[in-house]
Amino acid sequence: MQNHSLWIRCPVCHRKTRTKVYEDTILLNFPLFCPKCGHGTLINVVKLKMVVLSPEPDA
Ligand SMILES: [Zn+2]
Repeated sequence: MQNHSLWIRCPVCHRKTRTKVYEDTILLNFPLFCPKCGHGTLINVVKLKMVVLSPEPDA
C-alpha cells in the first residue's frame, strides 16, 4: 500500500516548501517556513488538508 504524500505549499507565495507530509501525518501549530519568500506561517495539516492558523508577518 502506497502512502500519498504532498509537499506543503506556502500560503503566501504558493510555491513548494521543503516540508513534506503523508496521508497519516498530523501537524498541529506547525511553524511552516518558506525558503522561497522567507515567510513563516502557523499551520495545521491533517490528512493532507492544510489550515492556516496565522501569518507571521515579521518573519
Ligand atoms: Zn512563500
